[in-house]
Amino acid sequence: MNKIEVIVNRCIGCGLCVKVCPYQAITLIDSPHTLESGRTVKQLAFIDLNKCTYCGACVEACKKYNAIFLQKEEAKIEIDFKDYKNIWVYAEQRRKEISPVVFELIAKAKDLSEKLSFKVCSVLLGNKIKDLANELIYYGSDVVYVVDDPALEEFLDEPYSEVFAWLIKEEKPQIILMGATNIGRSFASRVAAKIRTGLTADCTALDVDLQTHNLLQTRPAFGGNIMATILTPRHRPQMATVRHKVFKPLARDTSRQGEIIEKKFDFSKIKIRTKFLDFIKDTSTKVNLAEADIIVSGGRGLGGPEGFKLLEELADLLGGAVGASRAAVDAGWIPYSHQVGQTGRTVAPKVYIACGISGQIQHLVGMGSSEIIVAINKDPESPMMKIATYSIEGDLYEIVPELIKAVKEYKSKS
Ligand SMILES: Cc1cc2nc3c(=O)[nH]c(=O)nc-3n(C[C@H](O)[C@H](O)[C@H](O)COP(=O)(O)OP(=O)(O)OC[C@H]3O[C@@H](n4cnc5c(N)ncnc54)[C@H](O)[C@@H]3O)c2cc1C
Ligand code: SF4
Ligand code: SF4
Repeated sequence: MNKIEVIVNRCIGCGLCVKVCPYQAITLIDSPHTLESGRTVKQLAFIDLNKCTYCGACVEACKKYNAIFLQKEEAKIEIDFKDYKNIWVYAEQRRKEISPVVFELIAKAKDLSEKLSFKVCSVLLGNKIKDLANELIYYGSDVVYVVDDPALEEFLDEPYSEVFAWLIKEEKPQIILMGATNIGRSFASRVAAKIRTGLTADCTALDVDLQTHNLLQTRPAFGGNIMATILTPRHRPQMATVRHKVFKPLARDTSRQGEIIEKKFDFSKIKIRTKFLDFIKDTSTKVNLAEADIIVSGGRGLGGPEGFKLLEELADLLGGAVGASRAAVDAGWIPYSHQVGQTGRTVAPKVYIACGISGQIQHLVGMGSSEIIVAINKDPESPMMKIATYSIEGDLYEIVPELIKAVKEYKSKS
C-alpha cells in the first residue's frame, strides 16, 4: 500500500509543498510544534489522503527539510510479456478511403518490426472494405486483419472500440500505432482504457528497446519546451498515436505478398448507445494544408491581417497553401485551420516558406520535416533562419513582392 506522511519535527511550515501539489491535497494548518533543532514553529503541512495521488511532487519540493515521507508500492506486472508479439497499425478508413497516415505508420512499423523480428499487421474495420486489404499489403503489411460488417458502416467509437479491444485480447499485439486524426484521437484513448494499457499521443519519434521491447515514444512535453521519451513498461500492448506527415510511407509495391485474415465479431453481445446522423464535409479551406507541396506561411512579423493577402498571392502563383504561426492565428489575422505546429497541423511539404516567423519549438515540430525551408526574417539569429535551407535576411514586405514578381516573370516566359 502507498504511504505518505509529514514528519512533524522537521516541517517548518514554509508552504513550498502546498504550491507544488497539483491536486490541492496539502494545506498548512495552525499546529505549533517543536523542530529537531529545538525551534518552535506555528504551522504544519497537512496532507488530505482522499486527494493525494502519491505523485511525489511535494517530496521533491521539501528536499531541503526532508519532512515528507513517501513510500510507493511497486506496481505488480501481471501479464506475461512473451505472449505479446507483432506490431499493429490501425488502418483507419473513412468512406472506404484509407487515411494517408496509415501508410506512414506501416513504414515506421516495418522499421521497428525488423529490429524485433515481428510482423507488421494492419487492422481494417468497416463495411464492404475487404478490397482495401491488398493496398495495405502493397505498402508493407505482412498481415491484414479484416472485420467487415454492416454494423461498422460509419465510424462510431462504441462498436469500433469493442471490436478492436476484442481483437487485441485474442491476438495480443506488442505495439499498436494509430493516426492522430480526429477519429484516431478519440478512438485510441477509448481502446487503451478498455484494455487497460498506456497510450502516448502525438509522438514525433518512435524507437524500441531491443532488450525489453519497450516502445520509446518521444513527444513534446511541458508546452513543447522539452522532448520527453515515454515508456509503457508494465502493460501490453503499448499504444501510440502519430500525426500525419511525421513519417514517410514506403513506395507502393504491388508485388508484395501478405496474408488477409477475416474475423467475425458477434455484435449481438454489445449495446450501441450512439447513432450516426450525418457527415458534412468541411469546404472552408481552399487547399488542404496537410497535403500541399508548397506552403507559404506567415507569423507575427506580418504585423497585421493584410500581410496574408500578399502571402496568398504568392501561394496561389506557386499552387500552394497558406500556413500561419499561432501568434498570427491568436491575433485573429487568419483562421485556426491554417495554424502549423504543435497545437495546429503537422505538415511536410516540398517547400515551406516562413515569412516573419521566429521558429519557436512549438512551430518547428509542425513543419521541421519539410524538404526545403525558406526563411524570410529581419533577425538572422532567429531559430527559423538557423534551421532553414535558404535564409533571406530582410523585410518580408520588400522580399515577398520581389518573389511574386520573379515568379510572374518566370511564368510569363515558360
Ligand atoms: C502549449 C503551446 C502550444 C503552442 N503551439 C503552437 C503552434 O501550434 N504553432 C505555433 O506557431 N506556435 C505555437 N505556440 C506559440 C509559440 O511558442 C510561439 O509563440 C509562436 O510560434 C510565435 O509565432 P511567430 O514566430 O509568428 O511570432 P514571433 O516569435 O513574435 O516572431 C516574429 C518574427 O518575425 C520577424 N519579423 C518581424 N517583422 C518582420 C518583417 N517586417 N520582415 C521579416 N521578419 C519580420 C521577427 O524577427 C521575429 O523573428 C505554442 C505555445 C505553447 C505554449
Ligand atoms: S512539508 Fe516541507 S515543504 Fe511542506 S511546509 Fe513542511 S517543510 Fe515546508
Ligand atoms: S504526493 Fe502529490 S498529490 Fe500527494 S500531497 Fe504530495 S504533491 Fe500532493
